[in-house]
Amino acid sequence: MSEFDLIRAHFARLGAGRGDVVLGVGDDCALLRVPAGQELAVSIDTLVAGVHFLPEVDPEALGHKCLAVGLSDLAAMGAEPAWATLALTLPKEDSAWLAAFAAGFAGLARDHGVALVGGDTTRGPLSISVQVHGLVPAGLAIRRAGARPGDLVCVSGTLGDAGLALRDLLAGLEVEPGLRDRLERPTPRVALGLALRGLATAMIDISDGLAADLGHILEESGAAVAPGERRGGDASSPGYCIEEGGAATPNLGAEIQLAALPLSPAVSTRLARAPDWSLPLASGDDYELCFTLPPARAGELPALADRLGLALTPIGRILPAPGLFCLGPDGSRWTPERMGYNHFPDAG
Ligand code: ADP
Ligand code: MG
Repeated sequence: MSEFDLIRAHFARLGAGRGDVVLGVGDDCALLRVPAGQELAVSIDTLVAGVHFLPEVDPEALGHKCLAVGLSDLAAMGAEPAWATLALTLPKEDSAWLAAFAAGFAGLARDHGVALVGGDTTRGPLSISVQVHGLVPAGLAIRRAGARPGDLVCVSGTLGDAGLALRDLLAGLEVEPGLRDRLERPTPRVALGLALRGLATAMIDISDGLAADLGHILEESGAAVAPGERRGGDASSPGYCIEEGGAATPNLGAEIQLAALPLSPAVSTRLARAPDWSLPLASGDDYELCFTLPPARAGELPALADRLGLALTPIGRILPAPGLFCLGPDGSRWTPERMGYNHFPDAG
């Protein structure tokens, strides 16, 4: 089969049919209609065999996951998924593998009304890049910056399941299918992201572990300057800004109550045996949302959780000074050894 036949066989008209796709797969570019008053939210992620997934992983699950991680980014902005493009690098032509991969991708795409509108196909070591495009009414996207001291820190779902599944798979242990799905077929929290527009002050999806990803909210929110304020300080004090009055606003911190972390039975059982908090706090691939909420609006969480059928749990608070403090029930402090996964541990 030629490259073109491969593309036509597996990737033409994949996913949802959408009226805003003027031209999809087949030309030099796709043509897409962005509605007036909406902003385009765009994100790309690459999954590399041996780094982001085990090379022998089920291709159907892989097709699902490579779109899911993108949709999780859209969810984290409060954007509604619309279109995707797919760059595939394949070691060999394997029709059965491609058909299964395409089926996994298509299933999740249809669930979220996403049309695959283009891509690229090359030969080389197995690697997959998916770019997702979503729509959000102008000005309503939920950024990492926006958290304020006193805001509640909340998370969706449960934490550490994917980390536990990976740990056990690498150790050659049997992993029960539900837990394995948490690693290989994550559910992007798209409906939650949309529901939090106008409610959450800041949001991020948890892909590298809660400690690291909450850290990004603290950095960005601490460095954010409201309109009318002036960014100040010098290069040696990143995260500090000078307000119009001249007062310095320090970086933000957070306090997390370890006993409040939402855990699945599998992770709780493991923690009861060996209290290693890095499992829920610093292992990757959760794809839950972490968001901050003004305390006055905390009362809205239970009804939202009910409506979505998804646990939404307050786990701590934003503090006016830097630092991430993880407190045990007895007041003891846990400090992460490593914050999360870092592809360039030796960089700068
Ligand atoms: P070009 O040489 O102009 O980049 P290609 O031969 O790479 O064109 O691709 C032809 C058409 O097929 C384009 O519309 C492109 O977007 C689409 N395409 C290529 N690979 C994929 C893929 N893996 N998934 C979806 N569409 C693809
Ligand atoms: Mg091309």
